[in-house]
Amino acid sequence: MTFTTRFAPSPTGPLHLGHAYSALLAYDMACAADGRFLLRVEDIDRSRARPAWEAQIYDDLAWLGLKWPEPVMRQSDRGSVYNTALDALWTQGLLYPCTCRRADIAAAVSAPQEGAPLGPDGIVYPGLCRPDMPQQGSRPYDVPLRLDMQRACAVAGISDVAFTEHGAGPQGQSGHIRLTTAALINDIGDIVLSRRDMGTSYHLSVVLDDAAQGITDVVRGEDLFEATKIHVMLQRLLDLPTPAYHHHPLVRDPAGKRLAKRDDARAIALFRDEGATTADIRAMIGL
Ligand code: GLU
Repeated sequence: MTFTTRFAPSPTGPLHLGHAYSALLAYDMACAADGRFLLRVEDIDRSRARPAWEAQIYDDLAWLGLKWPEPVMRQSDRGSVYNTALDALWTQGLLYPCTCRRADIAAAVSAPQEGAPLGPDGIVYPGLCRPDMPQQGSRPYDVPLRLDMQRACAVAGISDVAFTEHGAGPQGQSGHIRLTTAALINDIGDIVLSRRDMGTSYHLSVVLDDAAQGITDVVRGEDLFEATKIHVMLQRLLDLPTPAYHHHPLVRDPAGKRLAKRDDARAIALFRDEGATTADIRAMIGL
């Protein structure tokens, strides 16, 4: 199998040194393995994605010396794929509409500040809207849909899921990572698979896209290590292959804080304007 990896930025702000690290690491790994490096634009959040940021991404990545095959996959073109998957899960009775607001969830969980179970997406959903019986009839489109994790594990016959971590999670987790059904239900719970504003979710889209692009190795920041547990579960549920994962440390500012989109001071475009070379950027991030 040809090593195939990808860089999947969201066009919601300038690429900064952290993005450069992720993209260059993935690119270098693909080159070293004589493999493929693909680009994917994760623009499902239409309220935040901007064409100007997308154009800047192509420009910055090309300047960094990266090459990728065209056409680039864009999530905004893939609504029908996400819909088909949601339809299938709905038909199996594995989704349910949820009308809870954040405050409802916080109120339902006793003393959240004292250790309400936190999953990859925040407080593990306490099940307020979860129906006793699978939902029937046609799927609603104007409301978030949650995955009934317990039912999904039962219907799909999942007793555990696993993936191979070639990098490391934030606590150094590496190697063969396994999750039992109990962990999926108690530590992850009923995640939202379709957001009202997007008609999909990051988690659903990313697993469908990685499969469609034939990704064998996902290279990305360790901030997404926990989300991988969701992704591996969804891959099993949707009968998709599970790639190997390589989570890398995050680039931090001098105070030790991880860089965010708002850290324009570390935007690639700014370094470029100031006359930096690609070699300077590589030196700054140690690649
Ligand atoms: N679009 C995500 C981001 O910009 C990356 C998702 C992924 O690599 O799986 O943070």
